[in-house]
Amino acid sequence: MADETRILIAGGGVGGLALAQALRQGGLDVALYERDPSPEIRNQGYRIHIDLNGNAALRTCLPARVLDLVRRASGANSDLVAAYTHRLEQVMAQTFPGTPDDVITHVDRNAFRDGLLTGLSDVVHFGRTLSGYQITDSGRVRVEFAEGGGDVGDLLVGADGVRSAVRRQLLPHATVRDLGLRCVYGRMTINEATGALIPDDFDRGFCWVADDDGCGAAFGPVRFRSRPEGASDYLMTTLVATSKRLAIPDEELFTLDPEKLWKISAELVADWHPALRELFAHADAGTFFPIRIQAAEPVEAWKSGPVTLLGDAVHLMPPTGGAGANTALQDSATLAGELLSAARGEKSLIDAVAAYERVMLPRGFDAVGHSLRMAGQMFGRAF
Ligand SMILES: Cc1cc2nc3c(=O)[nH]c(=O)nc-3n(C[C@H](O)[C@H](O)[C@H](O)COP(=O)(O)OP(=O)(O)OC[C@H]3O[C@@H](n4cnc5c(N)ncnc54)[C@H](O)[C@@H]3O)c2cc1C
Repeated sequence: MADETRILIAGGGVGGLALAQALRQGGLDVALYERDPSPEIRNQGYRIHIDLNGNAALRTCLPARVLDLVRRASGANSDLVAAYTHRLEQVMAQTFPGTPDDVITHVDRNAFRDGLLTGLSDVVHFGRTLSGYQITDSGRVRVEFAEGGGDVGDLLVGADGVRSAVRRQLLPHATVRDLGLRCVYGRMTINEATGALIPDDFDRGFCWVADDDGCGAAFGPVRFRSRPEGASDYLMTTLVATSKRLAIPDEELFTLDPEKLWKISAELVADWHPALRELFAHADAGTFFPIRIQAAEPVEAWKSGPVTLLGDAVHLMPPTGGAGANTALQDSATLAGELLSAARGEKSLIDAVAAYERVMLPRGFDAVGHSLRMAGQMFGRAF
């Protein structure tokens, strides 16, 4: 691979930023283009579970200083995953005692993104929406931005998430399936009064509660190890319901304001155990927003070239396995390893991309399958 090889990344989410960190650390020329006008502009969501694969990938991708910042802004370690009925009867519990302090069990999305952005100010360009690309006569990739302008590189990595513009062009036949589940993501700030409302187990890790009528809720605390400025500790209070149970057409659901979504969430759990109702009643009304739960249909391997994909852009999965971000991080670590090997002259750029795709595709779609099976267990039907 030539010394002046330039890598373009579309999308500054979890996977794109981890990849940019790894390539930058390896001394490669990298430019990342992110649609959001600035890092502050969009609420990234709330708690993300980081598993051992995600931890290993972070250690591979991030310089020690950045990893340390990310760890310090993560949540104090959790040690429980449990499931309950809506009457608060425990049906499953798994404990993870003695997790070492240098392992991250969960992060807050905004704090995570801030950490991953550390030291990348000359690499990450906000307010650049990739609208398409062309392969040039010399086999390079020219990208265009909706805002105007473009760039040319030797490899384009589509890390542009669920509605990936890169995937649309590279794999026009790839489809994403609507699972008929809608998620209303919210949270409750933890202070002295609300902290007392949290059942003990719910303060220890990820807890899932489900009724028999197509409605569930995920709870998990983020008690920052070192609280970022302006942030507060919180309990994620996320409702997941079948479209049938929610009974609100998408055209309406996706226009509702946060307060209305909060009220709807509270109403949906009206016959749940009082301790659970309290958590929704005291949640922050302004923090609720809806998400459609979808999964990518498996795609066949394609002929490797100067454009590839990672993370949700290729193997979108429902959040039920807590694996989407972890798998995106693994993609970044694998791709970075291959590209750095090419940079050392051990293989060509295209061979590096092909080696990455041989690992990424089966691993990503295994994770999609696992997440779909988890959704089946949580909702008592196959997806
Ligand atoms: C409710 C919920 C809970 C979840 N919980 C977990 C969890 O606990 N653990 C876990 O591992 N995963 C979890 N996930 C999944 C996880 O959020 C995703 O899998 C992960 O964010 C994927 O990372 P990514 O980098 O591929 O995409 P993203 O993080 O979505 O990043 C894509 C980026 O691309 C940008 N972009 C989009 N289009 C363009 C364009 N045309 N040009 C430029 N930029 C563009 C977007 O603005 C965005 O910043 C959860 C998901 C949801 C919805």
